[in-house]
Amino acid sequence: MERTLILLKPDAVERRLCGRIMARIEDRGFKFAGVKMLKVTPELSRQHYAEHVSKPFYPLLESFITSGPIIALCVEGPEAVRVMRDMMGKTNCRDSAPGTIRGDFGLSRQMNLIHGSDSIESAAREIAIYFKPEELIATTSALEPWLYASD
Ligand code: UDP
Repeated sequence: MERTLILLKPDAVERRLCGRIMARIEDRGFKFAGVKMLKVTPELSRQHYAEHVSKPFYPLLESFITSGPIIALCVEGPEAVRVMRDMMGKTNCRDSAPGTIRGDFGLSRQMNLIHGSDSIESAAREIAIYFKPEELIATTSALEPWLYASD
């Protein structure tokens, strides 16, 4: 079982798409270990996007990610990091395949609705930025053998 950090960015909140995106995540069989609505501060943005702070697009990214509330999700399930990245699509919504979240709901490279950790190491770092350990709740469901059976 693996956990990943998903953010529903300000455009997803503003466009009232959060429920539909969260439904896709649950429909796939993942569960939420943590759910939180918050506003990203410039400090939090720099911490989260540490690898991008010196890039030319960072100032615009910071103004976008701090422009309104977001929803942070800790998503749990088998290969959650990789499978969620596949469900999200490519960074540029216009390059994303139909059936992906970005490919179905967006046309922008910056306002691309959703963030997902890109590795297990990033997931651990990012989950710790948004959630205290006691805010993450482990649950089990009788459905799991049906959802997660290995082949
Ligand atoms: N971004 C942008 N312009 C770019 C590249 C990225 O505004 O040229 C934004 C976009 O919102 C993206 C975020 O910066 O989601 C982080 O970029 P990354 O390359 O990590 O993309 P992701 O992993 O989110 O697909």
